[in-house]
Amino acid sequence: MSSVAAFVGLTALAIGLATAAHDALLRPHSRLATGNWKLATDADSTALHRYEAVEPHMGTLVKITLHAPDENAARAAFAAAFSRIRELDDILSDYKPSSELSRLTTTAVDTDVPVSRDLIRVLAAAQSLAVATGGAFDITQGPVIGLWREARASRRLPDSEALRAASARSGHGKLHVDAAAGTVRLDGNGMRLDVGAIGKGYAASEALAVLTARGIGSALVAVSGDLAFSGAPPGSRGWRIDMHSAGSASGIPSVFELTNAAVSTSGASEQHLDAGGRRYSHVIDPATRSGLTDDITVTVVAPHGLDADGLDTAVSVLGVEKGLALIESRPDAAGLIVHRTPDGTRLVPSTRIKALAAAQRRLN
Ligand code: ADP
Ligand code: MG
Repeated sequence: MSSVAAFVGLTALAIGLATAAHDALLRPHSRLATGNWKLATDADSTALHRYEAVEPHMGTLVKITLHAPDENAARAAFAAAFSRIRELDDILSDYKPSSELSRLTTTAVDTDVPVSRDLIRVLAAAQSLAVATGGAFDITQGPVIGLWREARASRRLPDSEALRAASARSGHGKLHVDAAAGTVRLDGNGMRLDVGAIGKGYAASEALAVLTARGIGSALVAVSGDLAFSGAPPGSRGWRIDMHSAGSASGIPSVFELTNAAVSTSGASEQHLDAGGRRYSHVIDPATRSGLTDDITVTVVAPHGLDADGLDTAVSVLGVEKGLALIESRPDAAGLIVHRTPDGTRLVPSTRIKALAAAQRRLN
């Protein structure tokens, strides 16, 4: 899926292949309840059955839904996929001091350090997004992000002097990623890298790849609100993905039936700080060192979660106009921005979201 037409076309084709059926609605924003895996009965009697499992990973819950011929196959597939997510958490966590990412902040100071292929992929994607957004997306803002995290816990706005000092230890120009050599270097001590804006989407798609490699053709991995999914559930046209809850007057359906893609959502609905009459998002604008105060929710569809998750945050920081332009510049991505103001709710779909909506309407 390397071009606009192929991306939209393939998805529409996949939507058209199977007969209509109704699957549980999947909401990128909803909280997941933890629980043991279970067998859910299928509406039609195909040879495949639907299985679900939920486990806590990456500071959140991960839910995997898959279709497999029997319980043993499902159990083995769940174990392999969750193990991949555990492996990625050990690499990407900014909470664990022992993670490969955290260790870099001491080992890579003024020194080129070889890192794992996973870490290079995530860091290289993050740096390319930092350049494309003029630093609006910036994983080196760890010190600033940390102050806002403490602020949410204490319910008090961060001290502006502390923010200034944290900001001085940040900046994507201080992170050097050499993808060809597989090395990373940091300029100076006191840096902190935070891939919270991009790591969960990457993990969702990587866990899905493990399932695909095991011959599972229809699965969905949800790392909190970051979704990655393969072929349509048996007897359906696709995974029913809840894209927005702003009504359908805009001509954009709230539910899309999609296959073989990743969908990520960024918004302040779950993590925020209310102070001084304002709501501050957990996404910060590096230029102002402040949590975003605009009520903006961004949903991005892309072939891989690395792109979908990175873009949803980048677009949030850039705001509606520049954010939309960023989505349009990515041939593989489609996006929907929901901007709420006291005057009402504005739904801003990208060209390829409109094309997907039109393709879906033709099939209904
Ligand atoms: P969610 O975690 O709800 O899926 P996002 O994908 O938008 O939402 O990621 C939010 C996280 O991104 C924050 O918790 C923080 O760790 C990180 N972050 C915040 N601001 C930025 C920024 N400007 N650039 C890159 N990462 C950011
Ligand atoms: Mg994101």
